[in-house]
Amino acid sequence: MASNPYKDLLKTIQAKEKAKTPGEEFVADINRYFQVSKESYVPSKSIKPSGLGGCFRMQYYVLQGADRDVGSLEKAENITIQCCGNDAHDRLQNACQDAKRFGIDITWCEPEIEARRAYQSGIKTIIKRRDGNELLCYNEDYRASFKCDGIILFQDKKYIFEVKTEEYYKFNCRVAPEPKHVYQAGMYCLCFGIDRVMFLYEDRNLTFRKAYAVEITQELKDEIIDRIHHVLAYSDAKKLPPKEKDKCLYCSYKQLCKKSGNTEAFSLVELREIIANEQPEKDRE
Ligand code: SF4
Repeated sequence: MASNPYKDLLKTIQAKEKAKTPGEEFVADINRYFQVSKESYVPSKSIKPSGLGGCFRMQYYVLQGADRDVGSLEKAENITIQCCGNDAHDRLQNACQDAKRFGIDITWCEPEIEARRAYQSGIKTIIKRRDGNELLCYNEDYRASFKCDGIILFQDKKYIFEVKTEEYYKFNCRVAPEPKHVYQAGMYCLCFGIDRVMFLYEDRNLTFRKAYAVEITQELKDEIIDRIHHVLAYSDAKKLPPKEKDKCLYCSYKQLCKKSGNTEAFSLVELREIIANEQPEKDRE
C-alpha cells in the first residue's frame, strides 16, 4: 500500500481531537506549536561532514539540491530534544570559554583567528557566519559547509572541540566515540589543520559526561578525503549512488529514494572516467 505523505500532519490534528481533558488538549497544542513554528531547513548544496559516515545517496541528494520529503512533520519531542542538545552545546562551550577565569587549564581559541591561520597555510576555510557560539564555516577545497563546536587548547595541545548529547542507555554503554562522529570531526581537523579532537559526550538525562581525545592520523585523513571525493564524483557524474538501507534512520529523502529504486555502485576511478568523457573536447585540450 502506498504511504500517505500527509499521515503525520493528520496525526497531530487527530491528537487534539482525541484529547479528553484540558491537560491533554494543552499538551496537544504545545506539541503542535513546536511542530508548526519550526523553521524549515533547506541544506546548501555542499558536503556536510555530519553525513560523511552516512549514506552516499543522501549526500548526493543534498549536493543536487533535491526536493526533501513533503507532508511529514517532525515529532514535537524530536524537535525539543534538538533544542536540549543546542542548550547543552551552549552551556559546555561557555564553560570552556570561562574556565581560565578559575585557573582551569582550558583555553578557548578564537575561531576567526584559527580560520585565518589555516587559510595562510593553504587550507581554504572561511567563517561565513557567527551566531553566538554557533559558527557556520565553509571549505572551498572540499565544497563543505559545516558548524564546528569550537577549538580549544588543553594541556598545551590544540583540539577540535566536538559536543554530542545522547540518551542515557546509549551514553552508559559508550566506551569510544561513534565512528561516524570521528569522520565528522576528522573533517573539521582537515578544514582547520588540527590533528586532534576532544569529543565530549553528555548524557541527556543526568548530564554525566565522558570525553575522548582522539588523534586524527594521516590514514584516517586519507580515508575521509577519499569519501569526500567519491561523493563529489557521484554528484559531478550525475550518477545516483545505490541505497544504503542500514543508514536510513535520519533521512529527509525517503520518498524520492523509494521512487528512484536501486542503482549501480561506481568506484571513484570509474566515476572520474565518466566525468572526463563527458567534458567537451576543448576543455580536455
Ligand atoms: S532513504 Fe536510506 S537509502 Fe535512501 S537516501 Fe535516505 S538513507 Fe539513503
